[in-house]
Amino acid sequence: MAQDSGAPEPDDKLHDECGVFGVWAPGRDVARMTYFALRALQHRGQESAGIAVGDGKTVLVRKDLGLVTQVFSDADLAAMPGHVACGHCRYGTAGAKGWEAAQPHLSTINNVIIALAHNGTLVNFDDLRRELIDMAIPFRSNTDSEVAAKLIGYFTQRGHRLRTGIAHTMRMIEGGYAMVLVRENALYAFRDPHGIRPLVLGRLGDGGWVVASETCALDISGATFVREIEPGEIIRISDDGLRSERGCRPLTPANCIFEHVYFSRPDSVKDGSSFYLMRHRMGARLAQEAPVEADLVISVPDSGTPAAEGFAQESGIPFGTGLIKNRYVARTFIQPTPELRQMGVRLKLNALPDVVRGKRLVMVDDSVVRGTTSLQIVRMLKEAGATEVHVRSASPMVTWPCFYGIDTANQDQLIAANMDLEQIRSRLEADSVAFLSTEGLFACVPPNGYCTACFTGAYPVQIPRSFYEEKFLPGYEPNNLAPASKTSQMTLVQAEELLGQEG
Ligand code: SF4
Repeated sequence: MAQDSGAPEPDDKLHDECGVFGVWAPGRDVARMTYFALRALQHRGQESAGIAVGDGKTVLVRKDLGLVTQVFSDADLAAMPGHVACGHCRYGTAGAKGWEAAQPHLSTINNVIIALAHNGTLVNFDDLRRELIDMAIPFRSNTDSEVAAKLIGYFTQRGHRLRTGIAHTMRMIEGGYAMVLVRENALYAFRDPHGIRPLVLGRLGDGGWVVASETCALDISGATFVREIEPGEIIRISDDGLRSERGCRPLTPANCIFEHVYFSRPDSVKDGSSFYLMRHRMGARLAQEAPVEADLVISVPDSGTPAAEGFAQESGIPFGTGLIKNRYVARTFIQPTPELRQMGVRLKLNALPDVVRGKRLVMVDDSVVRGTTSLQIVRMLKEAGATEVHVRSASPMVTWPCFYGIDTANQDQLIAANMDLEQIRSRLEADSVAFLSTEGLFACVPPNGYCTACFTGAYPVQIPRSFYEEKFLPGYEPNNLAPASKTSQMTLVQAEELLGQEG
């Protein structure tokens, strides 16, 4: 059932915008497999959900606003037989709400129907969309994902095969993306050349394949992790088996480091290590970098818990439960008055006076982005009788907005971009505050190439000025590491001619 969940509360978290999943499994109930995988990925997006199924003849899509469990009934899933499917759950952002923005996006190329599920953001989609509209190509939404779907159609229609159309599209689009696409008889998956957004490949015991944003979706499908989809790679899975080819040249690896801090589920695995373990290490490192005399370490549940456990273990201060989370509140909303805003936080969290009364607390959270929720929690703990509250963030200071698929505030709303440490402490009404250092964070994650732009301003993909102008504080200029690619600077017609010459 359609449901408008309201505007997201400007809380202390960055929000991933989507989770994607794909499955190729003839003889299996692929719609139901996708449903359960999307439930495992629900933390990546709660505003809409959708599933597309290919049955050898056509592609059927069902999508709507709401949680996965609200969008699909048993009867819906039973009415979607097939052997290939993709699914999507989405965290909506301003300007791209509503049913039309829900995914997978359906497109027709000649007589072939495709459905596309996208996690990420394309930073040059405005220009591409304008060009496509000038060519009388119609749009149903203003999303970058629909631009990608239409581009794939554009290039495929001009005499190329679908995977060549995908490859041509990958050379035109800029940004962070992990995409899964189905047609009636095949599954495709492809990833941006820096590997900013995650995408993993798994094998089912009976010979099928799955792809997903995180390994937790492989686990629920009964699939074994095979490998990551490589940056710039396209894989195609059909009756002919799995084929891999290069869609575009891989560039300097820039995996989103915030997946390690917060986005990914703690039981998902990356580079051989669970995110739980990495976050535990972040907490331990934070205890070394910012020790404090206290009686009890508590977490902001649930996302702060692994780091709080690590902090407690390293510091020797006991770990306790000082805050209880209401597990049935997925999101809260913008509230017009401070009193109602306070209620918004209390909807999600409540203090345990019996535990915190008379104690000096270390309150560990995975990150402190705006500071709004942290302030409410500190007040709540003090009202419950805590004598001191020392705030510890297991991520470095977030000082720059993200443009690659994460819903970030404008820079003027990021507390660390506007205040020094003492001002932050005072704003949060805390007794002390500390953030993990960037070096400390690197020491806790496997050696890899990372995007750290939200901490450092070093953006791995050039951001067009039109895209960011209003996001930065006066005087802040992004430090773009890489200029946009040559092909993405071309018009569609120029690119088509060049790519035609290349064969
Ligand atoms: S800017 Fe931050 S949140 Fe965005 S992709 Fe880079 S590391 Fe991830």
